Amino acid sequence: MHARFIAYPIAYLIGTLFSGAVMADDLFDYYKRLHANPELSHFEINTSANLAAELRKVGYQVTERVGKYADGSRAYGVVAVLENGSGPRLLIRADMDALPIVEETGLPYASKVIAKNLAGQEVGVMHACGHDVHVTTLLGTARELAARRNEWHGTVVLVGQPSEETLDGAQALLRDGLYQRFGRPDMALAMHDSPGLATGQVGVYSGATHAAVTSIDVTIRGIGGHGAAPHRGKDPIVMAAQFINQIQTIVSRNQDPMNSAVVTVGSIHGGTKRNIIPDEVKLELTTRASSDAAMKIIVDGIHRAAEGVAVSNGLAEDRKPIVKIIESETGPSNINNPALAARVKKAISGALGADKVTDGFGIMGSEDFAQYSLPPERTIPTVLFILGVIDPELLAKASAGKAYVPGTHTSKFAPMAEASLKVGVKAMTAAAIDLLQK
Ligand SMILES: [Zn+2]
Ligand SMILES: [Zn+2]
Repeated sequence: MHARFIAYPIAYLIGTLFSGAVMADDLFDYYKRLHANPELSHFEINTSANLAAELRKVGYQVTERVGKYADGSRAYGVVAVLENGSGPRLLIRADMDALPIVEETGLPYASKVIAKNLAGQEVGVMHACGHDVHVTTLLGTARELAARRNEWHGTVVLVGQPSEETLDGAQALLRDGLYQRFGRPDMALAMHDSPGLATGQVGVYSGATHAAVTSIDVTIRGIGGHGAAPHRGKDPIVMAAQFINQIQTIVSRNQDPMNSAVVTVGSIHGGTKRNIIPDEVKLELTTRASSDAAMKIIVDGIHRAAEGVAVSNGLAEDRKPIVKIIESETGPSNINNPALAARVKKAISGALGADKVTDGFGIMGSEDFAQYSLPPERTIPTVLFILGVIDPELLAKASAGKAYVPGTHTSKFAPMAEASLKVGVKAMTAAAIDLLQK
């Protein structure tokens, strides 16, 4: 039994005894419970159930277990709808999953959860990407929108999304008819916390916020033999080295220098013993690009390099390298619609003060929020803004080289949650109300 199955209900029960009476102030308590009880991608069982229960309390029409993965299994998606007369339909998404990392923040509410991952291995679990900040902000925004119904018109569709870290959660929701069952939104919003921005600050970028990612497995095949008789075989280790060197030129020689692109070989395995030439070498690549066009240059370049190695080494057709795109870990770039971004930026500036809102920035990380825009055409305008979650003093010291701020996906990532959540709710609510005018 996973530790979290026991820990969460107890913590949650204690929490709910005190909630209700103090709606706004219990948000930080909700956050702490969530942080202490993270759940991995594909296993957001209690996170989704508790979010659903909280949203029902404030009057949303809630559906659970929304989402279907490629293998047909059900996901733990939560969709909560609040109708408020005629007007636009706005989708707001928060991702719910945590990461397989042992938490080392030392916080009083740090996670001690150990759970089994999809492969059945026991791993530590931690909200190291701040998705607990996102879920709590969604709940706070949901309460605000329910309480301030006289300030807006239309329909709000809130989405508690599973499995962002495995990049298959948004696709699972869409595959399960998210837009058919709950209406096609006129626009969609999301927020991600950032270790690069101080608490109190919000960044709204116009354009690509997150890169397209394509995960590729390459098997370089040769003909094995004795290490002392290389002429009788075809050495896949040498060929793998040629291939790796060749693909270094995709970014440096094939891309427009104004594009951002990355090609990384993160794993290489081949051979068993120094004097045996193996039959094959396996490589795992991750590639990133700031646009769909730049990604096509990368993928085409990898195919050509693999083909080129086969040709130059005289490999027969049946021993050519195998290039396989891992669809479940592949996704498009996330692009903030410029017109919507300008509107959201203005609305948040109105609520927080113009000096608190920056232009934001793009990163080479990936985000499956892109799927809500329906790429490649991107017919639904979407905006993902970033929320500062780091103590301003610490960030100032870090930029002077006198301190270190642990980033997301690290065991010491510790957002300044209580103050940041207030800013997040204020910003998301202001943006939503602005977009929900007739
Ligand atoms: Zn992440
Ligand atoms: Zn994230």
